[in-house]
Amino acid sequence: MTSDFETQLRAVSLRVTRPRLAVLAALRDHPHVDTDTVIALVRADQPTVSHQAVYDVLRALTDAGLVRRIQPAGATARYESRVGDNHHHVVCRSCGAIADVDCAVGHAPCLTASDDHGFTVDEAEVVYWGTCPDCATERTSQ
Ligand SMILES: [Zn+2]
Ligand SMILES: [Zn+2]
Ligand SMILES: [Zn+2]
Repeated sequence: MTSDFETQLRAVSLRVTRPRLAVLAALRDHPHVDTDTVIALVRADQPTVSHQAVYDVLRALTDAGLVRRIQPAGATARYESRVGDNHHHVVCRSCGAIADVDCAVGHAPCLTASDDHGFTVDEAEVVYWGTCPDCATERTSQ
């Protein structure tokens, strides 16, 4: 049986390898994780995979458009497998928690700049900063 991940890899002409499948599975289950977390998740299943191999997989998958790399100001790079919808992120200033924020369903109105200065716009990077519910609760209960 061919998994969705194998289909995705073949669709972008990447060879199907166990580390690539493991990284895609890790990002499906744990969106917005940093490189170290991806390494830990992959190694839980494949202990012999090297750090460098995971770096290489993340770069190949990002270049192929199967993985999106985000890096909020002051944070380490995070990766996710939800790609192609130009969604945005809300980031907690206290703990760094990240959640997805959709554009209007079906299209990305923020890609229509009020004045694009003649550029062809294909991505709008919007980061909402704030305090997550856990941190807000902690603050009021102290
Ligand atoms: Zn927080
Ligand atoms: Zn996201
Ligand atoms: Zn938007």
